[in-house]
Amino acid sequence: MLACIRCGLCLTSCPTYVLSLHESEGPRGRVGMARALAEGHLDITPDLLEHESNCLVCDACSAVCPAGVHMDPLQVVLRAAIEPSRHRSVAQRVLRGIVFGWLFMDMRRFRLLVRLLWLYQQLGLRWLARHVGVLRLLRMHDLDGLLPSLPGRFVVPNGEVSGSGEPAAFFAGCVMSTALADVDRATLRVLERAGYRVTNPRSQGCCGALHAHGGDLVRGKELARRNIEAFEHTEGPIVVNSAGCGAMLKDYAHHLGTDSARAFSARVRDLSQVLPQLPMKRGYARRVVYQDACHLLHAQRISRQPRDLLRSIPDVDLAEIDEAGLCCGSAGIYNVTNPNQSRQLQRRKLDNALRADPEVIVTANPGCLLQLRAGLAERGSTVEVKHIAEVLDEASAP
Ligand code: SF4
Ligand code: SF4
Repeated sequence: MLACIRCGLCLTSCPTYVLSLHESEGPRGRVGMARALAEGHLDITPDLLEHESNCLVCDACSAVCPAGVHMDPLQVVLRAAIEPSRHRSVAQRVLRGIVFGWLFMDMRRFRLLVRLLWLYQQLGLRWLARHVGVLRLLRMHDLDGLLPSLPGRFVVPNGEVSGSGEPAAFFAGCVMSTALADVDRATLRVLERAGYRVTNPRSQGCCGALHAHGGDLVRGKELARRNIEAFEHTEGPIVVNSAGCGAMLKDYAHHLGTDSARAFSARVRDLSQVLPQLPMKRGYARRVVYQDACHLLHAQRISRQPRDLLRSIPDVDLAEIDEAGLCCGSAGIYNVTNPNQSRQLQRRKLDNALRADPEVIVTANPGCLLQLRAGLAERGSTVEVKHIAEVLDEASAP
């Protein structure tokens, strides 16, 4: 907070400022409010809570700030500090307790929930709920729209080792290993073809990003400690295919400040960082737009590697889009907690992407993937949204 020189260079990078043109909806305003709060000049008012909660923690401001202000850790600590002062209804508290304290703390429970949702889709209950209007009645229509078509088989990390060559460890993720298990399997295949002997360590779980950004830093740190322990006896890079998880895993060093956390974070690599030697076996003759995930572009400063990988596939026609660095509005559970801003950003991102006339939009984050798919489905568009691992898997298949 003290580093901020109030230059305003961050303003036009900030999605909520771009939408509102309001100082308190921009990074400079948020830093100012947090500092005034810490120094005792401001109370925790509903206004302050709203402006701070509207932050997507996309780190677009951190990426351009000349003074080195880093919004993600600032928001994490701020949200944990103001959480006890928030007025939440009993229902909200119960829901938070279930989601943060029960569901995401144990992958067996998380897998059970996704299995139930799979049954909901397979037994035709989803179709029924949509057509008789139950979802609209419960105001869950938008939430249901984000749910992908779920796979029947998950990736359950069990300490198994696959492939041969350089050692690497795979971070499977909670949503990635269940709702998007096919992407995890594609990632493992791609890593093997790139010459890695990949370990998928048992007892790894959710990365804790949802907790840290949702004001529950205590549980976020607990998950971080468990993951560090789970990867303790593995070697090589810890490879992750979700931008949001990757940013959080790299932040374990900051949040815990221990030697083991620093050693863990130093090993974390995004999938696109470890595939220079991936042999491409077939062409992919499609017009592709690569959608930068904020937690890859801004938080991890990775933009060249995924583009280079896509360009290395024969016949790919890669197009760039306007406002590529502006968030798509997904941002963890932002599309659930802040649907209005999320919607506006989703529309803006899709307008920009579709102007480039793509056949496929490629991204590297589950949140972006689901957000864009839901938006395209609403428009009746036939443009596909794929994870970069799926495209690389297709192009490198023997
Ligand atoms: S760019 Fe950095 S220093 Fe300038 S106003 Fe924004 S946060 Fe403050
Ligand atoms: S993290 Fe993103 S939404 Fe939050 S202040 Fe920075 S640019 Fe704006």
